[in-house]
Amino acid sequence: MKGRRYILPRVIEMNFQAGQRLGVNVYLVDGGRDYILIDIGFEDTLGEIVDLIRGMDYSLSNCRMIIATHADADHIQAMARAKEVFKAPVAAHTDCVRALETADPILTFSVIKAQEIEIPLRAVKVDKALSEGDEIEVGDQKLAVWHTPGHAAGQLALKMGGVLFSGDNIYKDGSVGVIDAHHGSDIPKFIASLERIRDDDSSFLLPSHGPAFRKDKAMLERTIARLRSYLTMADFGTCATGWPLLDEWENDVISGRLPSL
Ligand SMILES: [Zn+2]
Repeated sequence: MKGRRYILPRVIEMNFQAGQRLGVNVYLVDGGRDYILIDIGFEDTLGEIVDLIRGMDYSLSNCRMIIATHADADHIQAMARAKEVFKAPVAAHTDCVRALETADPILTFSVIKAQEIEIPLRAVKVDKALSEGDEIEVGDQKLAVWHTPGHAAGQLALKMGGVLFSGDNIYKDGSVGVIDAHHGSDIPKFIASLERIRDDDSSFLLPSHGPAFRKDKAMLERTIARLRSYLTMADFGTCATGWPLLDEWENDVISGRLPSL
């Protein structure tokens, strides 16, 4: 048996457990005997993850749930296969069910033609649609379900005591999950989700990419201010809620005011 490397009490992260980068963070929440998995990653790393879980002396049949924090292909490509291997129900937010059950290439980012990205993706039936306020019990642990839209419409965060599994809401460097209209991003909702995380009493944020970190309100404040600026800038196209520059220019065009150069 390979020793369990807990990054926090009751939390194992499979990249750390493997001692190498597998991809997206895959969290195992240990409820005593039973456990759940948060995200599952790519198909070509599933075998290793299964071996690691067995190697830590967990039984595959004690996996109570596999949760998709959202439906992006890098988080869920292995979900259909994992469901068969663990024989565990798949859970996701209501707003991600369609993407998971249709393997929609745009909503899941599995196909980005301009970058020749094409990730084969199997549709997977969602057994449990999660909503804000739901509670997930695993052994002696409880996780509160947060709906934190912004990056994706159905982005989840999960709160367990002082720990928030924060998904693609915020990373240690203050960056956030990709903002893209095709993918269901929404900047005002993203800001509200980040404000909620800022104001919550959790001490540790466990994101879906990169290192876990101590929550830093000042960093969150800077990130929120940055996203506020996106609301009225062209950078994020139709995710912006307006573009004052173009309104001013239109007024100039209509009134015949030539630019003062
Ligand atoms: Zn992601």
